[in-house]
Amino acid sequence: DIPDIASPLRTQAIMNQYGINTKKSLGQNFLTDINILHNIVAAGDVSATDNVIEIGPGIGALTEQLARAAKEVVAFEIDSRLMEVLADTLQPYQNVKIINQDILKVDLAVSIKASFSDPTAPLKLVANLPYYITTAILMQLLQSGIHFDAIVVMMQKEVAERLSARPGTKEYGSLSLAVQYRMNARLAFTVSRKSFIPNPNVDSAIVKLTPREPLAVLPQDEVKLFELFRIGFALRRKTLWNNLTAAFGKNEVMVAKLTAALAAAEISPKIRAEKLTLEEFISLHNALFNAGV
Ligand code: SAM
Repeated sequence: DIPDIASPLRTQAIMNQYGINTKKSLGQNFLTDINILHNIVAAGDVSATDNVIEIGPGIGALTEQLARAAKEVVAFEIDSRLMEVLADTLQPYQNVKIINQDILKVDLAVSIKASFSDPTAPLKLVANLPYYITTAILMQLLQSGIHFDAIVVMMQKEVAERLSARPGTKEYGSLSLAVQYRMNARLAFTVSRKSFIPNPNVDSAIVKLTPREPLAVLPQDEVKLFELFRIGFALRRKTLWNNLTAAFGKNEVMVAKLTAALAAAEISPKIRAEKLTLEEFISLHNALFNAGV
């Protein structure tokens, strides 16, 4: 039996051995609670038939648990200092590949084909994300067009609440819509600051994303739909009408087009975007598109 990387003592010992001081600028907070790691792997239902991608393996605490549960693990780590650490800590696991790259610069579809021995196996993404780029990473994953059977990611609790937020709540916004357009989002559990070295200064939570049921109505133009999500919430306290005219203008022709589109989509101009469901946003987008806006 190989001892777990994830304990406060072993984590500190590894960091001392390699002279690693964590970099705040890279969002380096290492998990040291084995129960949390077990719960993350369980949330992903990771099994021996799954390919798993990890972002930011750090010193390998989560990678190790994934390696034990999965078929193969491919992990992207930006920090070159951690390469010799990971080569050592993950040496017992033959099914792990570490790639020293900035995840935001990776073409994931290419990497998947090149790195997994069977790229057609079920694919999951499991990670304790670097919090400073959580949204950028999520947008990259969602817009890649890659089919993930599950995405299980740890992030700042406030962001986790936004991903899974329902219409009418203060957490609901363009990020909720962008995520829920492709996936079902569920906040799985929260994690105490004490479970990390060093302790982050925010609370954390695990979100599980799974493929959603097909939408009843599809958008004419996804890029414009995503723009509309942002336009709708540009000024949160303003009405939909205020935000639409701020973005598209309010000359006579435009006012007529916007009025017609809202009527066609059966949406009141006086409503706030936070009340609109994803389906209503898509209807409004299609009506705007058809009106030439
Ligand atoms: N997985 C480890 C754990 O759970 O203990 C470490 C998680 S730590 C919150 C985030 C990790 O992401 C760090 O190891 C950091 O170096 C890495 N990272 C930061 N920015 C990155 C990027 N752009 N691409 C890949 N990895 C990155």
